[in-house]
Amino acid sequence: MSLRERDPEIHALVEKELKRQQECIDLIASENYTPVEVLQATGSVLTNKYSEGYPGKRYYAGNEFIDQVENIAIDRAKRLFGVDHANVQPHSGSTANYCAYAAIMESGDTFMGMELSQGGHLTHGSPVNFSGKTYKVVSYAVDRKTEMLDYDTIKKQAMEQKPKVIVCGYTAYPRTVHFDRFREIADACGAFLLADISHIAGLIAGGSHVSPAKYADVITTTTHKTLRGPRGAIIMCKADFAQKIDKAVFPGAQGGPLDHVTAAKAVCFHNAMQQDFKDYAHQIVKNSKMLADELNSHGLRLVSGGTDNHMVLVDLTSLGITGKDAQTVLERAGIICNRNTIPYDTQKPFITSGIRLGTPAMTTRGMKESEMKEVAALIMKALKNKDNADTLASIQKDVLALCTRFPIYKDLRA
Ligand SMILES: *Cc1c(COP(=O)(O)O)cnc(C)c1O
Repeated sequence: MSLRERDPEIHALVEKELKRQQECIDLIASENYTPVEVLQATGSVLTNKYSEGYPGKRYYAGNEFIDQVENIAIDRAKRLFGVDHANVQPHSGSTANYCAYAAIMESGDTFMGMELSQGGHLTHGSPVNFSGKTYKVVSYAVDRKTEMLDYDTIKKQAMEQKPKVIVCGYTAYPRTVHFDRFREIADACGAFLLADISHIAGLIAGGSHVSPAKYADVITTTTHKTLRGPRGAIIMCKADFAQKIDKAVFPGAQGGPLDHVTAAKAVCFHNAMQQDFKDYAHQIVKNSKMLADELNSHGLRLVSGGTDNHMVLVDLTSLGITGKDAQTVLERAGIICNRNTIPYDTQKPFITSGIRLGTPAMTTRGMKESEMKEVAALIMKALKNKDNADTLASIQKDVLALCTRFPIYKDLRA
């Protein structure tokens, strides 16, 4: 019996969500369209299996094939990122950070992470998150003037605070992260270096961002953002940390792994090793730079003046519209993005002065620089006509026409 027959209510919503994804321009920097082979692995019978433990050391029988799947996933992750060890079981990026911290810190230890409102992630020390409740957090910020990381200032702060761990890698930072500089800082103050590459993992895998493999002690990443795999995460580390990381994941924080997702991660890593993925990663950055240039030429101020990666942070102050309102107006026009604080934002986090725009999903659709020009023009038109329902409706028609030229999941039915 199919989903359609058994549960028409949920089936209809899945169909509607597919249509929404097909007909909107998705500029959420953390989203992507995972390929059908990843959907197939995620929707497979591997979801039925219990396999607490690790390959060859399971607590349940019947893991002959699951062991092979997990070993392949581990092996591919190690090759893709050039690391000693990989744990492919974390259910999400937040869980991966939870495990990584637990492996290298005791509660009450101090770590340094980027402030949430500056571009860090909740798990980098926000007071409302486990990370801020369990550990003593020293937050660092971007430079007020350049809106970029100032490694000398961060080093000074680290030398004064002597953290046990320094976390680098962000959620809303449009510039290159220089992991070599962070290694230098970590060595100088005697800290471990953790690189959270959740956002840029696909760029790193595709050779479009420097890799932390040589520099970081521990690397965490989601698999569903630029990496374009299933929703989930992995932890990688130097050999010395392998046992501690594995124990922190299981039995430390999780029970049975999601074997169907492990299989999908393996598929994702295989895809990311191909030449077309390198081209994809390269195009993401080219598209992002074009989107930035166009928005800039339309008069918008960009945080840090531009981008080196897959995202653009826009300061909307000059237009007199908040991030929250811009997000709503753009959604009415069929353009999906998220409001975002800009560094030293004067608006509350729920309102914000900015929006974050990312090109990974649009690049997956096959769009290139000329389409980014179209998208920038549509964004500007929508923001300047925020109270004009007719104009917003006509922009939505243009969005639909653009999406129709770059279809996704053509043969997919829920
Ligand atoms: C997305 C993200 C995470 C968390 O991932 P979830 O799977 O949503 O828990 C962690 N760190 C960074 C830097 C991220 O961007």
